[in-house]
Amino acid sequence: MSEPQETIFSKIIRREIPADIVYEDDLALAFRDINPQAPVHILVIPKKAIAKLSDAQPEDQALMGHLLLTAKGVAEQVGLTNGYRIVINNGNDGGQTVYHLHLHILGGRQMKWPPG
Ligand code: AMP
Repeated sequence: MSEPQETIFSKIIRREIPADIVYEDDLALAFRDINPQAPVHILVIPKKAIAKLSDAQPEDQALMGHLLLTAKGVAEQVGLTNGYRIVINNGNDGGQTVYHLHLHILGGRQMKWPPG
């Protein structure tokens, strides 16, 4: 397991850099992706600095469930009534670039399968 590093998302949580925040609670934050890949592209992150999904531990079970339900709620909040996609990129081969666990909510257009 890699130690969580300070990332740009830690700075967003602490409001040290700006972000278009759409939802916040004690455990999670959701904000619009700076480089959107769909008409709606929002990231849901835990406030706890877990670097990647494969670093999550059994004690994170409730938090992992909370993130998924938060993503569902945020999708409803922003009006994604016709469906959406949730993506978690994990590690190098998964295409992860920011090492603070995050769920992508992608919506507002028809998604393709398989993803690249
Ligand atoms: P991933 O490739 O799964 O690690 O996704 C990281 C995502 O973070 C990318 O979609 C980036 O566009 C997004 N991102 C990076 N920096 C910021 C930022 N300052 N504000 C919002 N989104 C960001």
